[in-house]
Amino acid sequence: MLVSLNEVITKAYREKYAVGQFNINGLSWIHGILIAAQKESSPVIVAASDRMVDFLGGFEIITSMVKKLITEYHITIPVVLHLDHGTTVTRCKQAVDAGFSSVMYDGSKLPIAENIRRTKEVTDYAHARGVNVEAEVGTVGGNEDGIIGNIHYASLEECVDLVQATHIDALAAALGSVHGNYQGEPTLGFQEMAAIQQAVAIPLVLHGTSGIPTAKIDRAITLGHAKINVNTESNKAWLEATRQALAANLSTHEPQIILESGREAITQTVQSKIREFGSVGKAWPTLNF
Ligand code: 13P
Repeated sequence: MLVSLNEVITKAYREKYAVGQFNINGLSWIHGILIAAQKESSPVIVAASDRMVDFLGGFEIITSMVKKLITEYHITIPVVLHLDHGTTVTRCKQAVDAGFSSVMYDGSKLPIAENIRRTKEVTDYAHARGVNVEAEVGTVGGNEDGIIGNIHYASLEECVDLVQATHIDALAAALGSVHGNYQGEPTLGFQEMAAIQQAVAIPLVLHGTSGIPTAKIDRAITLGHAKINVNTESNKAWLEATRQALAANLSTHEPQIILESGREAITQTVQSKIREFGSVGKAWPTLNF
């Protein structure tokens, strides 16, 4: 059984730690993430970015893979299955229908009135089915899965309007973070963050976390971030381990020999992020299988 986003982030928000969202790019990521969270006794958010969904086989396949692996590996920690950066209302509804327990609708590039209208349509549909919703205001910079953008700070008024009109469960307020690699030290708008948190009083979501130093992550958690998204760091660890395995096994044609070290690298990265976010030991037993 998957759990809803609220079940894991409400507790985190209250107790001032964050639950990691780890993006999947193939089966190795699902294995690696579930095993890491189980080892650390932490709740976890397994996420498919909308632009990866078809590559991964579609919504239904993703739900089945996650649920079956939970059973196979006797995973007892709470697991949320989340759609990251849902591109349209229809795609969010498809994810809900396929069994995702949380969806993000990303209307951040639209005028705020249209972002609110579409986010509300997603929220009405998802909430009626017990599924939680994240939405975004402002623009996270960088390039991820083809999403390219320049940093554009979330406005306080727009954040308040969106939260009040749609009753979303979590807000991604873009305040200087970047998907992918940072050029130099990340600059986050902590003053704006504090003001937005005070005004909306719901859990915030940090996107573009890879490369942000721990002290800044800690501060973001103190200022209401209860969900923190990671993709690039797991992918870099996977790539490095896979390159090493290829170089060390030039004569093999056994995929398992090459792929196993990448999976192990994902597990280790996710474990270290879970420790950084303070969610070690925060899991409670669930009836997952
Ligand atoms: P990174 O690419 O910085 O890890 O960010 C991931 C993310 O925000 C997914 O939504």
